[in-house]
Amino acid sequence: MAEGKAKLLFWDIETRGLVADYGSIFCIGWQWEGEKKPHVVSILDKPGRHPLDDSKMVKWFIEHVWNKADVAVGWYSGGHDEPFLRTRAIIHRFPAPKPVTTLDLWGKVWKRFKFSKNSLHNISQHLGLPPKIWSKSTDFEAILYGDKKAMKRICTHCLRDVETTVAAWKRFAPYVTTHPRLNHDPGKCRVCGSEKLQLRGNYFSAAKGRAKRVQCQNPGCLAWDTRTLKEVE
Ligand SMILES: [Zn+2]
Repeated sequence: MAEGKAKLLFWDIETRGLVADYGSIFCIGWQWEGEKKPHVVSILDKPGRHPLDDSKMVKWFIEHVWNKADVAVGWYSGGHDEPFLRTRAIIHRFPAPKPVTTLDLWGKVWKRFKFSKNSLHNISQHLGLPPKIWSKSTDFEAILYGDKKAMKRICTHCLRDVETTVAAWKRFAPYVTTHPRLNHDPGKCRVCGSEKLQLRGNYFSAAKGRAKRVQCQNPGCLAWDTRTLKEVE
């Protein structure tokens, strides 16, 4: 990994229940930027002291995946995945996970778009992204009784959600204002890292100081950004 380039993580979790004190995590899916396929780890891979104990898996994920990320992208991750993981971590008395910079695509879409529903399923249908796989609610129950096939189906669903999140990010990233920087070089696009930036006039904002608009010329990106006069000199 080149110096100054952010390690970008896409992730999703499947849980027992919607609250993390009375619930727990079944599996966690993730993909690093540049990888072709997502990965998944479940409580069957990292068994704890009882069939629903997620402590070993959560510890493993934080140490081997989360703490290595610079920026983490998810769908409704700010409302679910992140606080859920953090709550499981503190209950298990783990050290605080790294305060990774996060991008919750759901929040950006909710704020700046007008879809009928901001679910990953609805968005994937309208943008032609990999379709969601539905898990039967009975599968979430069957896991409680040790059904390994049910867990496998939940893991497949989790993997697909990660794939859809990656595909959604590729479409939404150029629309996201103040996307977290994925590099520190003012000569490069903050999203895709392309060096083909074009000056697109002045930037006027509430803040003091003159600035310029720039647009990435990578055809797959075309993200807009701003630069100070010093940066474009
Ligand atoms: Zn770009």
